[in-house]
Amino acid sequence: MWEVAGQSRALSLLQRSLEGGSLAHAYLFVGPAHTGKMTLAVNLAQALNCEGTEPPCGECIPCQKIASAKHADVQVIDLGSNGDSAEAESRVRISVEQIEQLQHSASLPPFEGKCKVFIIDGVELLSIGAANRLLKTLEEPEGKVVFVLLSTNESVLPPTIVSRCQRVELAPLSAGEVETALSSRWGVEPEKARLLARCSGGRLGWAVLAAGDDTLLQQRAEWLDEMLEIVGADNERRFTYVAQLVSRFSQNRELVQEKLYLWLEWWRDLLLVKVDCGDTVTNVDRLKELTGMAEGYRLGQIRGFIDNIRMAGEQLRLNANPQLALEVLMLSIPEKSKVRNPTV
Ligand SMILES: [Zn+2]
Repeated sequence: MWEVAGQSRALSLLQRSLEGGSLAHAYLFVGPAHTGKMTLAVNLAQALNCEGTEPPCGECIPCQKIASAKHADVQVIDLGSNGDSAEAESRVRISVEQIEQLQHSASLPPFEGKCKVFIIDGVELLSIGAANRLLKTLEEPEGKVVFVLLSTNESVLPPTIVSRCQRVELAPLSAGEVETALSSRWGVEPEKARLLARCSGGRLGWAVLAAGDDTLLQQRAEWLDEMLEIVGADNERRFTYVAQLVSRFSQNRELVQEKLYLWLEWWRDLLLVKVDCGDTVTNVDRLKELTGMAEGYRLGQIRGFIDNIRMAGEQLRLNANPQLALEVLMLSIPEKSKVRNPTV
C-alpha cells in the first residue's frame, strides 16, 4: 500500500516502472517541503524489497524494518547523518565523506534484502566535492542499487546530476484533498481539518504535523503578527528585521523561505478579499482582519507587492545576496491609504 496521499502521477509512474521491470537507477523527487517526497521514497524502498504479493505491502518483515529505519540496505543521507553528533549538527553541507561512505556501501551487495536504496534528502545541500563524487556514482550504475534524491530546490542542482536521474514531480495537493486526508486517515475533527488544510498550502505533511502539534499553528500566528507589525513599521525597523532574517538565513534557509511563503499567502488573501472571493482565502481564521486591511490598498498595490515577494523568494533560492533581496522587498511594501478603498 502506497502511503503517500494524492500524487497520482508520481505513483503511477513508479508503479508502471516496478511492474514493467524498467526501474531507473536514480530518481529525483522534486517538490515543496512536506509534499510527501520522503514518504514516497521510503515506500519505493519498501516496494523494491517487499516479500508480499502486492509491493509495498507494508506488513512483511522488510517493509516493517524499512518503515522503522532498521533495514541494513536502506540508508538516508542528510545533513544530520554520519559523523559524530557535534560535527553533524554544525554541518551546513552534505560532505564528501558522507558520499564516500555511500559509495563504499553501494559497491557491496545487499546485506539482507533484494535491493540497496540510498535516499539523499536535500540534494541541493551537497558540497561541490560531494556533488562530483555522487555524479561519478550515478554515471557508473551498479546492480541492485537505486538512488533516490529529494529536493525542494531543483534550480540550484548541477544539471549533470539532474540529467542522470528520472525526474518525479510532487505537486502540492488541493485544500480539499488535504482536508479529506486529515479527516479520513488521521481522524482530525472537521473544523480543525478545514483550517489546517487551508493553511497548509497543499503540503499535507505540514498539516499532519500541525494537527498533532498546536505550537505550529501558534508559530504561524506569531509570524503573521510579526509580518503585520513590519508592514506598519518605518524603514529603520524593517531593516533591523532584515538583519535578523539574514542571520537566520545563514543557519536555516527553509525557515526564511517559510516566512516569505506566509507573507505571500497573506497578500494573496488580501487580493482575494479585494475581488470579493473572501470565501477562498487561506487564512480563514483571520478573514475579518484581512477585510479591514484590504480596504487600505488599491488592487494594483497588492498585485505589485505579491510579485515582489515572489521575486525575493526566487532570488533567495538562486543564492542571490539575501540582505539585498530582502531590503529591496522591504522598500517595496506598499503604503496604506488613509481613505477607505482608494482608487488612485
Ligand atoms: Zn512488504
